[in-house]
Amino acid sequence: QAQKFDVLIVGAGAAGLMCAIEAGKHGCRVALLDHAERPGKKILISGGGRCNFTNRHTRPENFLSANPHFAKSALARYTPSDFLALVERHGIAWHEKHLGQLFCDRSASDVVQMLLRECAEAGVRIFCSTEIETVSRDDAFHLRTSRGEFHAPALVIATGGLSIPKMGATGFGYEVARQFGLKIVEPRPALVPLVFSSADQARWCDLAGVSTEVVAAIGRQRFTEKMLVTHRGLSGPAVLQISSYWREGEAIEFDLAPKMDATAELRAPQARRESAALRTSLRTILPHRLADRWMEVYSPSGWSTAALAEWEKRLHRWNVVPETTEGYAKAEVTAGGVDTGELSAKTMESRVPGLFFIGEVVDVTGHLGGFNFQWAWASGAAAGRSIAAT
Ligand code: FAD
Repeated sequence: QAQKFDVLIVGAGAAGLMCAIEAGKHGCRVALLDHAERPGKKILISGGGRCNFTNRHTRPENFLSANPHFAKSALARYTPSDFLALVERHGIAWHEKHLGQLFCDRSASDVVQMLLRECAEAGVRIFCSTEIETVSRDDAFHLRTSRGEFHAPALVIATGGLSIPKMGATGFGYEVARQFGLKIVEPRPALVPLVFSSADQARWCDLAGVSTEVVAAIGRQRFTEKMLVTHRGLSGPAVLQISSYWREGEAIEFDLAPKMDATAELRAPQARRESAALRTSLRTILPHRLADRWMEVYSPSGWSTAALAEWEKRLHRWNVVPETTEGYAKAEVTAGGVDTGELSAKTMESRVPGLFFIGEVVDVTGHLGGFNFQWAWASGAAAGRSIAAT
């Protein structure tokens, strides 16, 4: 005997939980299904265990998508303040780190508990450890699952992207989209460490652990944050941010001495222009090991003012062509996904009536800093409210 609901939501992550709450509290009978043994597993590991649950400065410019306008409507109708009000209503202690990033004081599990309490109050039924076997549609949607059949006139796909397969990420959302003839923007790992070419690995990787403030840029996209040398390449917030914009074969330009002039003293009239003086100056800007290595790899071609200018320029415009990324195993999110051209920006409903896509499975990807959760909350709320209103 099939279980009947008003809406079936597949994926009990950030987006699915929010959608369930909004639909449930407006009177819908909601079933939330997940193959994992518990809901919100990615929330639990997020933000180093403290969950960077939103960003005060959320703007459409903080998101990548083939259609940069798509996210605007949902983001405007469920804002960081809305989520913060929920957090405060539940008495969760939080703090602001730099750049508007809001974190739990205690633990990410506070956010999961809050969402589960809201689900319980809204009468949402949660089915964990449930494998979805088939999806079909006639006048309603039918899911055949390891826990029997579920029917509802609305189906929401909130199964996230391909990042961290170890935690249960699957391509399920993309498969459902394809099954119903909806277009996909090719998924790719984003917010992901980059791997050097073998030549650069030999030059830099024994410095693994060294970090410094840089500007990382591709075209007009620029991020001023820390860069970290790893055993295989580069990571750190500046690199994770720019990785979302990087395509294979492209160069990334790093300014290793933002707003600084490493050769100023050497260019003074009486200064001694020699390696030791340049190294001393560079060591005031970069960590010593990196400064010393830089001098070994890129010693100036001479001591004329022109040669110093050339050397200075390289420090500010260091071009790196990564070999590849560390892939989905290390990617914080998946860029690409269900083509926004197939969805309503207001409701997240697809061209297929009653079929919705929310959260990371959609071709909307946030920068690092709480933006991906804000998209999950906002798109989840948009779909949940719209389903309840019909
Ligand atoms: P998910 O949270 O991934 O949820 C998808 C759900 O669908 C999961 O519960 C999964 O089990 C279920 N599912 C998948 N396939 C199936 C299937 N076939 N059948 C049934 N169920 C299925 N973002 C921030 O904004 N701030 C942070 O601090 C932050 N930290 C992060 C740290 C790490 C290590 C990682 C990996 C990501 C982090 N992110 C952070 C990104 C953020 O976690 C995601 O963008 C967000 O969780 C996406 O929400 P979602 O609901 O769309 O998908």
